[in-house]
Amino acid sequence: MRIPDHIIEQIRSQANIVDVVGEYVQLKKAGRNYLGLCPFHKEKTPSFNVNAERGMYKCFGCGKGGNAITFVQEHLHMTFPDAVKHLATKMGIPIPEEEVEDPTGMTARRDAARAALREAADFYRKTLSASDGAPVRTFYERRGFSADIQERFGLGAAPAAWDHLLTHLEANGFTRQHLEDAGLIIVKDDGKVYDRFRGRAMFTIRDDSGRVVGFSARTLSNDPDTPKYINSPQSMVFDKSRVLYGLDLAKRSIIEHKTVHVVEGQADVIAMHQGGFLSTVASSGTALTPDHVKLLKKYADTMVLVFDADSAGQKAMSRGIEIGLAGGMEVRCVVLPSGEDPDSMIKKNGVTAMSDLLAQAMPWMTYQTERFKKEGALSDP
Ligand SMILES: [Zn+2]
Repeated sequence: MRIPDHIIEQIRSQANIVDVVGEYVQLKKAGRNYLGLCPFHKEKTPSFNVNAERGMYKCFGCGKGGNAITFVQEHLHMTFPDAVKHLATKMGIPIPEEEVEDPTGMTARRDAARAALREAADFYRKTLSASDGAPVRTFYERRGFSADIQERFGLGAAPAAWDHLLTHLEANGFTRQHLEDAGLIIVKDDGKVYDRFRGRAMFTIRDDSGRVVGFSARTLSNDPDTPKYINSPQSMVFDKSRVLYGLDLAKRSIIEHKTVHVVEGQADVIAMHQGGFLSTVASSGTALTPDHVKLLKKYADTMVLVFDADSAGQKAMSRGIEIGLAGGMEVRCVVLPSGEDPDSMIKKNGVTAMSDLLAQAMPWMTYQTERFKKEGALSDP
């Protein structure tokens, strides 16, 4: 989809550069311009100039300069069309998109799958507050997730039924092909079709720009034969090796601190955000991949791995160190007290204890030396 030129021109000329930059940089009036600390290089005295009349910014330290659109592109790491859309939304300018050629129909299919996922996320949200959602509501309450955090993360509930989502989405004009593309239904060999997620707590997975790309569904049952989590399958809109849970919400804080906290699970991400640790993300249904690190490298220089003390956690730590270093990150490690995950740790010891623990994150080399020592690998023969 192409954005018409006159809309781009309208945004370029009408965007208030002081507001756009001011959302991320503290600006002080200095003569006819505004001045602040440059967000693109480290500095202690402000050399970042914003000219309201011309709608331009310029840093006299590192030389970066441009208009509102380039600022959004550079600072939020967006493509040009995404930056234009971002500003258009803020300015309340609707974007009529021009039709583009789509000979294979793949673009249309992908768009429909995305729309179906968005609608499904709404459906699960609504189910959560309906009578069907009572068991899941209780589950979230027991975990201590506040109403605000449930809203921010788009937590929902899948009804314990075979086809409620299917019926709802078909009534809204989606075809079975769309729903299959979106990974929302299961089609059996005999042609029978039913909802993939049933009677589960629904964690909405969004990409770094906030688009719904899939779900992770947790069972409420204690039956050891029931898988704890079911995730959306890989699809034309969901590649789990490239999506990090919570990144859409964490992005701003990560950019600000140039540091990201990586935890093991989705519930950990939510607990961390609720505790005010806003730079936290996790991989969803897969170990950390080189593509994850590449994605994070756009926003951060330092990766802090916050993993459990158990052997699975320590294995994940070693892998995280390896992949992080290969991706050019500075890697630091936090080992949680034995038997704790971030959620239980914050509940038991409080936010201050967690923040102390993060402040004491070890350089990866120290972590590995200590681990080898503990395992006896460095002891004298
Ligand atoms: Zn600069």
